[in-house]
Amino acid sequence: MADQRKYNFSAGPSQLPLEVLKKVQEDLLNWQGCGSSVMELSHRGAEFTKIAKEAHDDLKEVLKVSDDYEILFLQGGASAQFANIALNFLDKSADYVNTGQWSKKAIAEAKRIGEVNVISDSQENNYSSIESVENWKTDSNASYLHYTSNETIGGVQFKDVPNVSTPLVCDMSSDILSKRIDISKYAMIYAGAQKNIGPAGLTIAIVRKDFIAKGKEDLPAFYKYSTHAEAGSMYNTPPCFSWYVAGLVFKWLKNIGLENMEKQNTEKSEKLYGFIDQSDFYSNPVDPKYRSQMNIPFILANSELDSKFLEESKEAGLINLKGHRSVGGMRASIYNAMPIEGVNALVDFMKEFENNN
Ligand code: PMP
Repeated sequence: MADQRKYNFSAGPSQLPLEVLKKVQEDLLNWQGCGSSVMELSHRGAEFTKIAKEAHDDLKEVLKVSDDYEILFLQGGASAQFANIALNFLDKSADYVNTGQWSKKAIAEAKRIGEVNVISDSQENNYSSIESVENWKTDSNASYLHYTSNETIGGVQFKDVPNVSTPLVCDMSSDILSKRIDISKYAMIYAGAQKNIGPAGLTIAIVRKDFIAKGKEDLPAFYKYSTHAEAGSMYNTPPCFSWYVAGLVFKWLKNIGLENMEKQNTEKSEKLYGFIDQSDFYSNPVDPKYRSQMNIPFILANSELDSKFLEESKEAGLINLKGHRSVGGMRASIYNAMPIEGVNALVDFMKEFENNN
């Protein structure tokens, strides 16, 4: 069936590397001859302990995370972190940057817990750009500054790490592992797994140890980052299977090299934007300076053709191109596991559709 797989442009859960899926298939019933599936292993047993450690160490290596940080394998998705970050770290107030639907959700959750200053807001320009950092009005009382490096729905991405003195907390759900990053600039980054990391159910948080130490003590144990750090992410039963598959993805990426992955992501996104920009039939609304390399929304000049586009692209083996329900149009999510061949096939299809319509 592997040769009948389609190019899957879903925003998440999204396409995984075929190599990884094949390895999972091979190991599924009897992991490395231990007699059980990874799904059936005790999370505290020798086998899973090895799987967990290797995944942790490979991620540490790929992202060049120093010993000043904890890498946590959590649950609850990025959405649970929206609240947990504020619960743990929001003291007098926190600064938030609103660049799209996901920032907005993070802000709404933090507001339930404490004082939030939205120091930059792109809602007025329909989330099509990002205000330059020099104009942000940071607050010296803020415990941290939260931003979303890549807005999955709007397709808006920061190209640089904001240069501010407030501890930076970043939702990297949809662009982690897509390019090299300087972890040392962050107090915390976090990401739901279901895009560049692995299957849903796992959430990665990389948190500086001295930042964890600032977390509030009077919280239920599960909601404190310190609990998970002290327990090596084994305070309770972790999402073992997702953790294992993520480990295989990290090995796959380690083999390719993050720098090469970054080059491929640049090549793929340039190819698609280049095609969209020379066409009058398709357009992308985002300021070219901040266009996402991961999620590329585009609209057809004639929206009456939308459903035809979706039907025919599906027939051509290109699936999940429908834009998010809140914005409509189309969206091509081209994460790490989408090969350049998938983007070429999409561009060829778009050309043909334009010619025929
Ligand atoms: N932040 C971003 C940037 C996202 O793309 C998503 C999910 N698509 C979330 C947060 C929410 O993640 P989760 O479903 O893991 O809670």
